[in-house]
Formats: sequence, structure tokens, C-alpha cells
Amino acid sequence: MSRAYNFSAGPATLPLEVLQQVQNDLVDYKGTGMSVMEMSHRGKDYPVIHAEAKANFKELCGIGDDYEVVFIQGGGSQQFAMIPMNFLAAGQTADYANQGTWSGKALKEAKIIADLRGATVNTVANCAKDIPTRMPTDAEWKFSDNAAYTHICTNETISGAQLKKIPEVKGPLFADMSSDILGIDRDFNKFDLFYAGAQKNLGPAGMAVVAIKKELAAKGAANIPTMLQYRTHVDNDSLYNTPPTFAIYIFGEVMKWVKKMGKENLFKLNDQKAKKIYDVIDASGFYKGTALPEFRSNMNVTFTTPNADLDKLFVDEAKKLGMSSLKGHRSVGGIRATIYNAFPMAGVDALVEFMKDFEKKNG
Ligand SMILES: *Cc1c(COP(=O)(O)O)cnc(C)c1O
Repeated sequence: MSRAYNFSAGPATLPLEVLQQVQNDLVDYKGTGMSVMEMSHRGKDYPVIHAEAKANFKELCGIGDDYEVVFIQGGGSQQFAMIPMNFLAAGQTADYANQGTWSGKALKEAKIIADLRGATVNTVANCAKDIPTRMPTDAEWKFSDNAAYTHICTNETISGAQLKKIPEVKGPLFADMSSDILGIDRDFNKFDLFYAGAQKNLGPAGMAVVAIKKELAAKGAANIPTMLQYRTHVDNDSLYNTPPTFAIYIFGEVMKWVKKMGKENLFKLNDQKAKKIYDVIDASGFYKGTALPEFRSNMNVTFTTPNADLDKLFVDEAKKLGMSSLKGHRSVGGIRATIYNAFPMAGVDALVEFMKDFEKKNG
């Protein structure tokens, strides 16, 4: 068996232990005589997997029974549309931070709904196009007085900028946490709704994991398609229709792994992994970090070499050494090393050695 050091931003590295457990249980899950993929979602065995996955996620986030956790298909991107469809009514204003590609896409969806309904989208801070990439500073936020909700993104996966301090807002606070959920210490109780595409730090692709205050879900619009109402998923325990059962099962296995590793321990390891790479960048005149130091992500480390040809050579040479997917996103270029919870320290050490060596040869 040969496993690559896979720096992909998503779908991303899963814990090897989880993959092996899944492999072990694949054709006969715990004596049921079938794979989880083949089980009825309303049978005897699947609901246990479903309930346990939710309970462990809630425990890890430290959220109580005022929240419901739901699994919704369409990934993070569908959440961009569902949020305003449910919570931005005619005449209301929603506050959106424009911090990069992803929050920009969320804002774009909100504007579509706002235009349809006669509502307003207020951009509370705009640093999406800034290079070096960054997040808004404390002084920059311009919240409106009566926002229906405020939407932020905690980690911009493409730019490699991360919000270290969550802003204080008066009304409901919503967050896209796709690329740093359970990868950094957060007080999840500050959020009325938070969500993540599972394929970054939680499991395989195929769904968004959404935590939402039950009281909030009940207040969402009812004149939109049933599947797009949060209340449908909340009231039916994500079993209104057939959920992505296999993805939920693997998500559940990842949650067990996070509990076993200890989340505080993972947060510390993530910071150590990121620091090793940033230290090489800072000690060199060759590499340049893409994000402002105070907003550097501990999940997606973005940097460049002196020119685009060398960036390409870097990615190609690293690939030959078993380090894959280091190419930066096409919209910003350069190099991106994604190091979510499941990415091993040994892979970071290999990258750091390679970076030093590459600089010696090409600097
Ligand atoms: C990947 C990503 C998304 C989009 O997720 P999809 O599941 O591909 O729709 C949204 N927000 C952030 C921050 C992401 O990293």
C-alpha cells in the first residue's frame, strides 16, 4: 500500500484508521450481512449510525438541544442559497461579509433572493480582492442596525485567510465553516446557524452538515420548496427523503476519530503543522506568504515562489516525491498546502524538507 501526502483542499485526506475501519466493515457491517450503502434508511441498523454521528458532532461542538444537526445535499454551495431563501424576507436587510471567493459566492446568492423579493443585502466588510489576502479588521465591520442575520465565512479556503476573532453582532450570526470546522477552537454557541461542506474536515463529499437553532428553523419561509426549508430537515431528523447514508456513516466514523484523538490535541497539532510551513516561508527570501500574517490559516497554507514557472516546477517536483495537489486554486495561483485534521505531521515534515531543498536549487 502506498498513500500519497494529499494536500488537496477538498475532497481531502481522511484518517487512515477510518478508511481501514470502513474497508473492514464494507461488505458486512457488524454482522448485518450488508454494507451501510445497502441498508434501508428506515431499518433497524442505519438509524443507530445516524443518531450517533449527530450526537458526537454536537458533543464535539459543545452545542445543546436548542440546536438540531441536519444533513443536506448540495454541499456548502446550496447553503448559500437556502439561507436567504429561508431567512431574508421582503423589506429586510441581511449583512454579508465579502472576505474572499466563498463568502463572495454566498453574497451573490443572497442578492439573487433579495432582488426577487425586494430585500437588501448590505456588505459589512469587503476585502475579497485584497492581495495579500486577509480578513476584515475589527474597525472595518459596518453592521446595519436591524439585520435579519449576518453571514460570515470563518476560513477562506482559496486565499488561506482565517478569521481568528469572531465579530460581535446584535442579531443572528450565521457562518460558513466549511474549511475549518473542528480544526480550530471556536465557541459554536455564538452562532445561530453554522454549516460545512463535509469534504473538507468532516468526511466525504455529498452533503453539508448544518447546525441550526430549532427556534430559528421554525421561523423560516414556508412558501419555498419543501426540500429547501430547514424545518423539513429539522422536523424529520434529516430523513424526509433518503439522506446520503454512506457519507453520513463515514462522517460518523470521522467524529469518533476526532473524539479519540481529542479535539484540543488536534487544534494544537494543526497550529504546529501550519507553523512549520510558515516558519520556512518567513525564514526565506524565496517564498512569500499569500495571506497577511495575522490572518494566516492553520488549514490552508498559501504561498508563492518568485514566479509562476517556479510555482509550477515546485508542484511538479513535489508530486514526484509523493506530495500531491499542491497547486494553488486557479483564481489566486501559487501554491496551497491544505493540512486539515486528518493530514499527518509526517507529510508536513516532508513538505518542509522539500521546500528547503527546492529553494537551495532554485533560489
Ligand atoms: C469548499 C467550500 C465551499 C463549497 O462547498 P461545496 O460543497 O463544493 O459546495 C463553501 N465554502 C467554503 C469555505 C469552502 O471551502
